[in-house]
Amino acid sequence: MNKNGIIVAIDGFSSSGKSTIAKSLSKQIGYTYIDTGAMFRAIALQCIENKINIDNIIEIQQFELLQNILQNTQIEFCVVGDTQHILLNGRDIEHLIRTIEISNAASKISTSPLVRKYLLDIQRNIGKKGSIVMDGRDIGTVIFPNAELKFFITASVQVRAERRFLELKQKQIKTTLQQVLQNINERDYRDTHREIAPLKKHPDAYVIDTTYLTLEEQLQLIRLIFKSITGK
Ligand code: C5P
Repeated sequence: MNKNGIIVAIDGFSSSGKSTIAKSLSKQIGYTYIDTGAMFRAIALQCIENKINIDNIIEIQQFELLQNILQNTQIEFCVVGDTQHILLNGRDIEHLIRTIEISNAASKISTSPLVRKYLLDIQRNIGKKGSIVMDGRDIGTVIFPNAELKFFITASVQVRAERRFLELKQKQIKTTLQQVLQNINERDYRDTHREIAPLKKHPDAYVIDTTYLTLEEQLQLIRLIFKSITGK
């Protein structure tokens, strides 16, 4: 175990509630929370702004362009009030990356080996110091397969769509439940079927189905497991 604290890897389906759990857990245990989905979203925005054809992201013609873009991309996090914002080359893009369009684009660019390798290095580097709660799709399977504690979060697709719809409504992002449902289904398919680092449960991961659990119940469960591993 890293003397500074362990790595908690939280993977799961889109809108399964993993970021909410990860954020709340990290606050309770005094760890740093890292939202790797936001990193993929930032790269997606960067690709769109640089006119990369994200529908054909793995085509050879896009390779050099993408490589060039990634070489000139810097991703950091900062804290604004009590929320974490992502910075793309020093620009706060938090308010731009939560739309359905960027969700879709992030899911598409996440199939690129170039993008995944670029983010893998950043994510592993952040994890070195320990005391990290990191959420995503491949954290327990690829980024930190030796993480001391791994969770796999799931929930029914209908419940996930309803939760995401409400969240977008609160952020005043216009959409319909049907659109959200379709988006989640498409992303689930791409996330679980891509060649590189597909979403899957690590054999050691604790599975938490949040369909019928309140956030409080989810947290109680996770805290209990965390305590059994760390004694804290
Ligand atoms: O978690 P979030 O929904 O913000 O992630 C956006 C997209 O980024 C996902 O649909 C997924 O395709 C991709 N992603 C990934 N690996 C991660 C985190 C996110 O492929 N570790």
